[in-house]
Amino acid sequence: MPDITQLNLMIVDDDEFAIELFLCALEELEIQTCETACSGQEALALVESRQSVSPLDLIICDIEMPDMDGLALLRHLAEVNFDGKVAVISGLDSDILRMARDLGKAHNLDVLGAIQKPIQKEALALLLDQVFNEPFAPKPKPFGKRSVSADAIQFGLDNDEFTLFFQPKVNVQSQCVFGAEALIRWFSSEFGGIVGPDEFIPLAEESSLINAITERVIDMSIQELKRFKAEGHRLKLSINVSMLNLSQLDFATNLAAKLKNEAIDPSDIILEITETALMRDATNVLEVLTRLKILGICLSIDDFGTGYSSMSQLQHIPFSELKIDRSFVYGAGENDSTRRILESSASLAQQLAIASVAEGVETREDWDRISALGIDLVQGYFISKPLPPEDFSTWLREWNGLTEN
Ligand SMILES: [Mg+2]
Repeated sequence: MPDITQLNLMIVDDDEFAIELFLCALEELEIQTCETACSGQEALALVESRQSVSPLDLIICDIEMPDMDGLALLRHLAEVNFDGKVAVISGLDSDILRMARDLGKAHNLDVLGAIQKPIQKEALALLLDQVFNEPFAPKPKPFGKRSVSADAIQFGLDNDEFTLFFQPKVNVQSQCVFGAEALIRWFSSEFGGIVGPDEFIPLAEESSLINAITERVIDMSIQELKRFKAEGHRLKLSINVSMLNLSQLDFATNLAAKLKNEAIDPSDIILEITETALMRDATNVLEVLTRLKILGICLSIDDFGTGYSSMSQLQHIPFSELKIDRSFVYGAGENDSTRRILESSASLAQQLAIASVAEGVETREDWDRISALGIDLVQGYFISKPLPPEDFSTWLREWNGLTEN
């Protein structure tokens, strides 16, 4: 059993007083030794000098530092292939800490977490407890009871337990239905009810079952889209894909073949790609995205605003739609920074001449705010919750009946 008091630890902070406080907290936890660095440069030099002798197990770094800040330090640590663990600390608000943590993960660093200054002994102890645990693996399980396994997902696939719900996207100006997002639902017999995507998608990604799941979603989407069309509805269908799907070199050609077989126009399909996942950049992914674009399939940047280097992703990938994350939409009236992100996302989409979608529109106020900002499309409970296919058909008829009058 590894001994936590033997950890090779380093704190990086330009504030000497903060370092003192940190060392006191460590001492209370009976950790006597800790490297200290008061700048990013000094930290990097220490990392390199110790690499072959006794590599550091954990670096805890402040975000705000002159010259090289914590964010730049994370990048440099990734460049030197630092394979210990990392945590960030800051007196800044929790959103910034969360973003810094996500950035570290995007660099493929083993990020334990983020803690707020002033550092409390308890928070530090919790962080250190994680050092010997598996990185990222323990995802919070809702209700703390059930644990979904790859076998259970496979069973779900074999027994057709996955199905799609559809949530409409409506044009703000015309109020016409533009399309819908297909959302996967798992009615698990083993767990006796619905298992949410958050509970099985990360595991499916780890176990590469995500390819089978996405293929199932695509097949079901195509069938439902055909049915909606047969009922006389013109719709564009949004399908969520994982970055792992896009690293499969034959993804685009397989999808194109399926669409051709079913006589679906590629421009009726929008693939939603999560921005944070995008940062695990790979040449395969770019090749596949380029091929999809050539085929005429629309690419949408999903959950916009929750990742980090949104701007740089937009430069490299030919997106035709930007989906603003719900956290910047619902209740944006009450929070200044939320509203600013919403506004700048809307104007960014306008500057890039791509469609903007606001997710999570739940109230009249949300709708009015979105409308005033010139956002093109809206999705959320104010319009409709996600619906099973038959209910979605009914909803379409009712909505179209209403908007025609
Ligand atoms: Mg989505």
